[in-house]
Amino acid sequence: MQGLLNDWRRTNYTKNVTPELSGEDVIIMGWVHEIRDLGGIIFVLIRDKDGLIQITAPSKKVEPEILEKIRNFRKESVVAIEGTVQDSDKAPNGVEIIPRNIEILNLAKQPLPMDPTEKVRAEIDTRLDSRFLDLRKANISSIFKIKSQMFHTVRDFFYDNGFVEINTPKLVASATEGGTELFPITYFEKEAFLGQSPQLYKQIMMSSGMDRVFEIGQIFRAEEHDTLRHLNEAVSIDAEASFMDDIDMMKVLNNMIEQVIIDVNENCSDELAILDHELPIPDEPFPRVTYDEAVDIVNSKGVEMEWGEDLSRAAEKALGDVMGGFYFLTEWPSAIKPFYVMPLESDPTKSHAFDLMYNNLELSSGATRVHQYDLLVEQIEERDLNPDAFGSYLKAFEYGMPPHAGWGVGADRLTMVLTGVNNIRETVLFPRDRHRLTP
Ligand code: ATP
Ligand code: MG
Repeated sequence: MQGLLNDWRRTNYTKNVTPELSGEDVIIMGWVHEIRDLGGIIFVLIRDKDGLIQITAPSKKVEPEILEKIRNFRKESVVAIEGTVQDSDKAPNGVEIIPRNIEILNLAKQPLPMDPTEKVRAEIDTRLDSRFLDLRKANISSIFKIKSQMFHTVRDFFYDNGFVEINTPKLVASATEGGTELFPITYFEKEAFLGQSPQLYKQIMMSSGMDRVFEIGQIFRAEEHDTLRHLNEAVSIDAEASFMDDIDMMKVLNNMIEQVIIDVNENCSDELAILDHELPIPDEPFPRVTYDEAVDIVNSKGVEMEWGEDLSRAAEKALGDVMGGFYFLTEWPSAIKPFYVMPLESDPTKSHAFDLMYNNLELSSGATRVHQYDLLVEQIEERDLNPDAFGSYLKAFEYGMPPHAGWGVGADRLTMVLTGVNNIRETVLFPRDRHRLTP
């Protein structure tokens, strides 16, 4: 039995058709990027996942039926082309293919809803409406190739450091952290929510003896406003480790980010060049600034901030201007951190909580957690939450919970840093914001 493609099988990606193959036969498959019909000769650019190749069809050398097929090409149609490689000074990569056999695999409807060959970026909404076409552009697909490398490195890093990969539920019964920004859903006869973070589950896992866990998964937040750094569905890289504290986990995070940068630089140099983006490798541990120091810095820059407040956007910008690059913001006031964050022994109004920042962008929040049942209940009550709602979580703290610490990194925000884009929507294939639920 013959398959759909009959005898057609790709022999080379366009990137691998080099002048050294001159005289050899190849089969390439891809999209029609550009057609130039000069009468006596037709030039076609074929694009595949990471390159372009020129097809050159002089009427003297190519059969009339093949020329006819080429004349029927439409931009962005999918084709297979068999031909002979020939080196050429004029062709884009110094090489072209003289076609001998052609198969049109799928004809694209015209006009296209957007043109993937245009050099300037169209309006983001137009692009997202036809995301599949948008992704055919090298500068857009490069973002996702870099993001994929980031996940690859992150997973390798965790496995190399003894972390176990876990998956926790995204359908949850109660407010994970007592915040208000949750999406309620109907769960048979009950009300449930989409999980805002795996926080409580990864902490329960610390009582399982598994020691170190990580999860890469979706988080859902009913963020009301439109910003360039918030989505309603994001991906979080979460880590939690027993017998470790905030200092240990800041080191883990620092090392992970450094490894990501090294690997992206090494394996995504083409993509970085396409995006015209440079990634400096930090040669020292990320600097740390305490919350107290941050308040002084922010005020010294003329942005008003009182001790105990969360950083306003203006405060983040002022601090980012002074600090630059990656840095940790430590010793946050306990009152503006969640109930599971460990207060400082020396001054319980401050805590073992940290954020990792890049310029003015928050990338991660982490902390040493409270592992003592009584203190945890006390801190839940202090925040006007009901401990009964946290019954199944609290139970894990009554029968041998080790000291532990952890963090969550916004994967999409980290991708912004790695690719140099300033809108988080650019880093998500099919972003979800206040106004967008499709595609
Ligand atoms: P922000 O103050 O910037 O809204 P947050 O403090 O509410 O963030 P955390 O609860 O600390 O966020 O979540 C951990 C990390 O997850 C953040 O540092 C960020 O990188 C990412 N993150 C949180 N909310 C979003 C969101 N709505 N869209 C994209 N990423 C997010
Ligand atoms: Mg945070």
